[in-house]
Amino acid sequence: MRRCGADLDAAAATGTEGADTVLARTPLTGGTFARLPAATAERTDAAVDEAHRTFHHWRTVPAPRRGALVKRLGELLTAHKEDLADLVTIEAGKIRSEALGEVQEMIDICDFAVGLSRQLYGRTIAGERPGHRLAETWHPLGVVGVISAFNFPVAVWSWNTAIALVCGDTVVWKPSELTPLTALACDALLARAAADAGAPPGVHRLLLGARACGERLIDDPRVALVSATGSVRMGRQVAPRVAARFGRCLLELGGNNAAVVTPSADLDLAVRGIVFSAAGTAGQRCTTLRRLIVHEDIADRLTERMVHAYGQLPLGDPFDAATLVGPLITTAAHTAMAEALATAQRDGGKLLTGGDRCFATEAPDAAYVRPAIVRMPEQTEIVRTETFAPVLYVLTYRTLEEAIALHNDVPQGLSSSIFTQDQREAERFLAADGSDCGIANVNIGTSGAEIGGAFGGEKETGGGRESGSDAWRAYMRRATNTVNYSAGLPLAQGVNFL
Ligand code: NAD
Repeated sequence: MRRCGADLDAAAATGTEGADTVLARTPLTGGTFARLPAATAERTDAAVDEAHRTFHHWRTVPAPRRGALVKRLGELLTAHKEDLADLVTIEAGKIRSEALGEVQEMIDICDFAVGLSRQLYGRTIAGERPGHRLAETWHPLGVVGVISAFNFPVAVWSWNTAIALVCGDTVVWKPSELTPLTALACDALLARAAADAGAPPGVHRLLLGARACGERLIDDPRVALVSATGSVRMGRQVAPRVAARFGRCLLELGGNNAAVVTPSADLDLAVRGIVFSAAGTAGQRCTTLRRLIVHEDIADRLTERMVHAYGQLPLGDPFDAATLVGPLITTAAHTAMAEALATAQRDGGKLLTGGDRCFATEAPDAAYVRPAIVRMPEQTEIVRTETFAPVLYVLTYRTLEEAIALHNDVPQGLSSSIFTQDQREAERFLAADGSDCGIANVNIGTSGAEIGGAFGGEKETGGGRESGSDAWRAYMRRATNTVNYSAGLPLAQGVNFL
């Protein structure tokens, strides 16, 4: 693991070096290989200005023709899948198959959005007045400001952008300051798609920068929708600012996802599902499994198997096809993980495996860490907190009611699952008084959602929904139309006037 750009390493932990520079770095070594100019306030305003002006034209382009742009983007993403996946691995540290999977997700959402471009349906509603027609029309909303996190550096952008573009919106994107090169590549591919499809270049603008740049973007009243993905801390800052100007927010924030494992579970299947969800992407997915709630009769057996499975996980260079666990994004992420493990142990938790840092000599500025499992006596504050690293807390339960209560007793509400072969237990978990999350699964883990469903969560996760199903509605405005084609003027609710 060779170290590069050592002089820039301290700044690299945050991805910035003063307000005017964004650093391109890699978690593979912790090294920095480029300095990029950050967007100034003037550049941010100009980007919104251009997107806003372009919107006035773009909203009048028929939706299927807007779909032609997204179709071309999907073709270009398919042609450049390997290259884009390389950048995801270099900047976010994802293993090869997950990086390729993230680009595949982009291609899938483009397919979905192209189909959607002919299906932005409104409703015809039964009205109460004769000779009147009551209907709903969906119109483009405006400029969408997309703020994204480091851990899905391209998929989250595409979820928002592909849907926003077919909905007739234009997009200004502020990606994570930790993944600027993947963002430049996406922006270049979309610019090429726009040129090929005859769409105006101003449908998309990219702003590289950190928090200050994001704040300038979200405060701009011309940004009709702020779609922000990241930590709860970020959401707490963003939501009130956007609300203060009556803008719309779509928030996709942190999770603290759990799986309940019941005595009837198929343990072979459960172990595979749990290990992928908990240790995959080095624990750096918003849907990563962080809490395992196991029936006390099978807890020892399951944790033994989990510890064994964790012992088989190859850790190291994410470009190596055999590697299943790559690096954490920064050494600061390892520090947060070590602190969480220390707190959990002070709370009476028993570290069953992992937590140790590897390759510290070869790559002192990188953070390769073995995924950890901690058996907890109860759901303490640290268990209720999202630590963005591979720490799986194991809790036990006696009754399903107790398991569901434990499951829901956290501030976040993103993803959840139950492993069971008992239909009553499965349905109970999915019922109105079961899991309180936006995603509730049976016999698969908490991570790895398909694009066809609406993605998002409740409580501190922010309540937003993106990607499939009818999530497109967040990117449009609804108009209710009443048309009177009669010669009379009957008033609603039987009111008489004049
Ligand atoms: P982060 O909150 O540090 O940063 C996310 C983005 O917000 C970055 O682009 C950052 O520059 C920007 N930002 C931060 N403060 C801002 C402010 N005040 N105004 C405007 N922009 C601001 O998150 P991260 O470390 O990059 O990502 C990890 C977090 O994201 C985890 O909590 C994870 O659960 C969450 N996440 C959630 C989802 C989801 O869909 N729910 C998906 C991916 C990641």
